[in-house]
Amino acid sequence: MVYNFQMRRKFIAGNWKLNNNRQQTAELIGKIVTLTKDVKNVDIAVAPVFTCLHAAKEAIGSSPVILAAQNVYFEEKGAFTGEIAPSMLVDAGCTAVIIGHSERRQYFGETDETVNKKIKASLKAGLTAIVCVGETLAERESDKTNDVIHAQLSGAFKDVASLEKIIVAYEPVWAIGTGRNATSQQAQDVHAFIRGLASRKYGNGAEQMRILYGGSMKASNAAELLACPDVDGGLVGGASLIAEDFCAIIRLSS
Ligand code: PEP
Repeated sequence: MVYNFQMRRKFIAGNWKLNNNRQQTAELIGKIVTLTKDVKNVDIAVAPVFTCLHAAKEAIGSSPVILAAQNVYFEEKGAFTGEIAPSMLVDAGCTAVIIGHSERRQYFGETDETVNKKIKASLKAGLTAIVCVGETLAERESDKTNDVIHAQLSGAFKDVASLEKIIVAYEPVWAIGTGRNATSQQAQDVHAFIRGLASRKYGNGAEQMRILYGGSMKASNAAELLACPDVDGGLVGGASLIAEDFCAIIRLSS
C-alpha cells in the first residue's frame, strides 16, 4: 500500500535500535496495528533492524503503519561490504529511513557530509528521509545549541532542492535514552529555530515540513511536548519497544 504523508499531520516513529528478532518484530507490530486500529490523523512508523524488515512488512500487511529503516548507504551498488542501498530498502517495503541518528554520528563516524549524501540518495529512491540533529550536553551548556543545529542542517540540506519527503527529528543527545527529556519550552525553541532556518532556504515549504522531537519521550511527557506549535510528532526509542507505551503516545497525538 502506498501511503500518502499529509502535511504537518502528527508523525510518531518508533526507533527500535538493536532490538527484536523476527518473531518479536511480528508480535510487536501485530499489537501496534491492533491497538491503533481506530486511530486517525496520525502517521505511525516503525524502524526495526534490517534483518527484520521483511517480517515487519508482512506483519504490517494492509495497515497504514509506515516501515522505516534505521540507516542506509548512499551508493546504489558495488564494492561496499555490509552496506544497504536506498533501492534495497524500497524493495524490502520501506517508505522511510532514519538518517544521521546521534548514535550513528557518535559510534559509526557519520558526518554532516555522509548525512547529506544519504539524504540525497534516499530521496532519489523515493524514500522519506527522517533527518536527525541535536546538540550534546556540553554544547547546550556552553550556549552552542543553535550553532550546532545550524551547522548540522546546513550540511544535511546542501544541494537538496526541496523539503518534500524530508522530516527533521530534533534529538538532544543528552535526552536520548537518559530518561531526561527536553522541556516543552526547550523543544519549542529549537523546533522554531529549525523551521526558521528551513524557511530561509526553502520559503513556504518550511511551514509544511514536520519536525519531530526525540529524547526520552514517553506517555507521561508526550502531551506537553506534542502541544508545542512546532512539534509535529516524536521519534521514540525506548518507549517504542512496548506496544502499550508506544500506542499511548500515538493516542496523545490524535
Ligand atoms: C532515539 O533513539 O531516537 C530516542 C529518542 O531514544 P529514547 O526515546 O530512548 O530516548
